[in-house]
Amino acid sequence: MTIAKTNNNKGANTTNLLETNFGSRDERDHYKPFKRVGYPPIFIWPIQPVKGLKWILSIPGYFLPWNSLYIFIGILSWYYLSPPLEDYSQVTVQQTFLCFAKNSLLVLVYFGIFHFHFYFKKNQGRIFKFNPNWPNKKNKTFLFSNQNIDNVIWTFGSGVTIWTLLEISILYLAANDVLSLIKRDERPIYFLFMIITIHLWRDIHFYFVHRAVHWAPLYRHAHYIHHKNNNPGPWSGLAMHPTEHFLYFSCALIYLFLPFHPLFVIITLTHAGLSPAPGHAGFERFVSGKKSFDIDAHAHYLHHKYFECNYADGIMPLDRWFGTFHDGSPEAQAELRKRLKEQSLKKG
Ligand SMILES: [Zn+2]
Ligand SMILES: [Zn+2]
Repeated sequence: MTIAKTNNNKGANTTNLLETNFGSRDERDHYKPFKRVGYPPIFIWPIQPVKGLKWILSIPGYFLPWNSLYIFIGILSWYYLSPPLEDYSQVTVQQTFLCFAKNSLLVLVYFGIFHFHFYFKKNQGRIFKFNPNWPNKKNKTFLFSNQNIDNVIWTFGSGVTIWTLLEISILYLAANDVLSLIKRDERPIYFLFMIITIHLWRDIHFYFVHRAVHWAPLYRHAHYIHHKNNNPGPWSGLAMHPTEHFLYFSCALIYLFLPFHPLFVIITLTHAGLSPAPGHAGFERFVSGKKSFDIDAHAHYLHHKYFECNYADGIMPLDRWFGTFHDGSPEAQAELRKRLKEQSLKKG
């Protein structure tokens, strides 16, 4: 079976849209990109200052497109969609509901864009789709035997709920002067530094939380729900058990220990709440018009496929440092097999 037949190559007549220019399909029709998962030059040894600086400011780079987008949505959420901090001094049912509605709206729109493009309209068919199959609609491991329905229930029923409760709780403590708050104009450098490093903090926090939930008792209790999605779609991103949601969104609890502005809390939670959508899209590239661009989903797709690798899902090379990195190559696959064999021998 040729690639041209297996893919629904709607109008793929430019090099940027031709899947065969970016990867190949194996005997089971799974798409494997030629490009290896890698890290930005700033984290590669020996240090490359010029390349590193260029990367920070380029597209894609440290700020653009993803990091800036979550900062921007966080600013929108705090300054235009949230009440002033004083209103958090007393928690009411109405306020909690409005906060839940605000966060739900963000998730619905953002996750919805990826779902609508890739899975509802199937705008690019299976071009750049890692797993050739569409989400499962007859699998009893999922709620109502339907992967998308299952994922949406966990996302809103647990994910957005726990996100909202953490947001309200931290802002409640801040509004009642229990925590240390700063004003933007009084400490502008600290304010800016904290905002632009949220992404790095989230990378570190996610890696260690993710390693923790792969510990067998926690995996059996919670993380197995997320890993039912070995063929993930955007809605799989926040499909987690409540225990995992709490650990996942606990990145915002850092502000119990550091002076902060309410915007930090909102951007941190927005980053955690929205960034799983592209990472679980199930596609390597997003086709828009006559262009396609990498949405950085390959590393985490490999985690869903092989489980014990790529626990981090950001720009910091934590998996490389801790020996759990998989770049998608046959060599990395052989290394993973060897590591798992050694682990099982150790366990006896
Ligand atoms: Zn995942
Ligand atoms: Zn995992």
